[in-house]
Amino acid sequence: MRATVIPAPESVLLDVVGATEQFPVRRVYCVGRNYADHAIEMGHDPSREAPFFFQKNADNAYNGESFPYPPLSSNVHFEVELVMALSGGGADIAAEDALSKVYGYGVGIDFTRRDLQDQMKKMGRSWEVAKAFEKSAPVSALVPASKIGHPQEGAIWLEVNGSRKQDGNLNQMIWKLPEIIAELSKQFVLAPGDIIMTGTPAGVGAIVKGDKVTCGVAGVGELSLSVI
Ligand code: MN
Repeated sequence: MRATVIPAPESVLLDVVGATEQFPVRRVYCVGRNYADHAIEMGHDPSREAPFFFQKNADNAYNGESFPYPPLSSNVHFEVELVMALSGGGADIAAEDALSKVYGYGVGIDFTRRDLQDQMKKMGRSWEVAKAFEKSAPVSALVPASKIGHPQEGAIWLEVNGSRKQDGNLNQMIWKLPEIIAELSKQFVLAPGDIIMTGTPAGVGAIVKGDKVTCGVAGVGELSLSVI
């Protein structure tokens, strides 16, 4: 390998339950409005139009017990999401083959600077400033699909200071996991190391410094964070 002129960036690594080896993150994709009740609460029609995707930066993903409240916002929202982690990839993946590309699953939060997102929407600009900021994608340790299979239903929930805010079920997804991979792979060439945040159910809301956020997906795991 040739030398680099500056130190090469470190890989972004996520823990795997029961393993010493870690999962290297290549890209972070997110699905917008994938639960009807959340689409409605955001003022959109929940009909089954083609799913849309956006990205966070790979190094926005991390395992951790704290979430640093970001600058430039006074309305940072939580969105609990099931995270898919890919061990395979390709373009134009058929839905029937899609789950064979999944290494495992985790619980993540798509933290969003909602005030900035609203501004960007009004101005017709892209969402990066609202979605792809530092530490915006905390994820639990991943669980291999070889241990838990591919979740299709089960509770997906989030609590702030012990009070239940989001209380959905994976079976409410408009676009199911294989369809998400199939659709996303029409737009981008997927590869091992990509993670996909699969959308959030209703009940999103704001957090403030000092809050304790706990969330989970039945059969997958839980994630607990202090907002600092
Ligand atoms: Mn989201």
